[in-house]
Amino acid sequence: MNRTVIVTGSTSGIGLGIARAFAADGAHVVINGFGPKETIAAAVGELGSLGGGKILHHGADMTKPEEIEDLVATAAGTFGSVDVLVNNAGIQHVAKIEDFPREKWDQLIAILLSSAFHTMRHTIPLMKKAGHGRIINVASAHALAASPFKSAYVAAKHGILGLTKTAALELAEFAITVNAICPGYVLTPLVEQQIPDTARERGISEAEVKTDVMLRLQATKEFVSIEEVAATAIFLASEAARSITGTHISVDGGWTAQ
Ligand code: NAD
Repeated sequence: MNRTVIVTGSTSGIGLGIARAFAADGAHVVINGFGPKETIAAAVGELGSLGGGKILHHGADMTKPEEIEDLVATAAGTFGSVDVLVNNAGIQHVAKIEDFPREKWDQLIAILLSSAFHTMRHTIPLMKKAGHGRIINVASAHALAASPFKSAYVAAKHGILGLTKTAALELAEFAITVNAICPGYVLTPLVEQQIPDTARERGISEAEVKTDVMLRLQATKEFVSIEEVAATAIFLASEAARSITGTHISVDGGWTAQ
């Protein structure tokens, strides 16, 4: 039977990679996120050709709880269940705390942390009824360690690990696992876009941001690939991972070993 998977923020980057991996595995996948209509239609078409499952795009804004409720209801109404929920949507903002715009703080906390609470609230009753489920939160190495100028991001990512552990304990006896993946730097639009701001805040060149900031602590000195993060999500959703819950897997090239 095809599993149904929701991946938030999956019109780009890591989320699209995770959606692609589940689609190739034969799942029905509900993708979500923003972008040009043609790009989204192309992604739906590509994913639909991979494993025989159906692909649907839902444009819920992760800052809007009622749209998130509709995303989960649409997935369940279309496919009859939600077997895997991947909370992945994200944005970044790089600035000193005293210059950090209040609305940016609220937006990052809403997208990176509160949206996972909202998707989970609506998905958990469906998973309990089905007698199984997998919830995977895409956190970050920044869930375990900080960097300057990323206050909202680091706070939200630390927060999602707490939510992951709490949900895991609440759901452990229902055959529903809840885990986080903590990637190091992956070259996606989210990372590309922060390079100029980081260069400005630190007074260095954009090339130096890559070598001296992003890859400084990544012991491999290489960016993590989208496919490596997606493979970790597939593993956490597998039967082999049934006893793994309330924890995280770092995919960070050795960053947080230091
Ligand atoms: P990305 O910019 O490539 O993709 C972000 C996705 O989120 C897009 O599909 C975008 O449309 C969507 N999105 C943004 N705001 C949204 C909103 N309000 N509602 C719905 N969707 C929204 O970024 P990415 O690098 O692939 O990041 C994905 C996740 O991985 C994020 O949670 C990010 O924090 C995390 N992460 C990224 C890295 C990295 O180095 N790229 C490292 C660790 C963790």
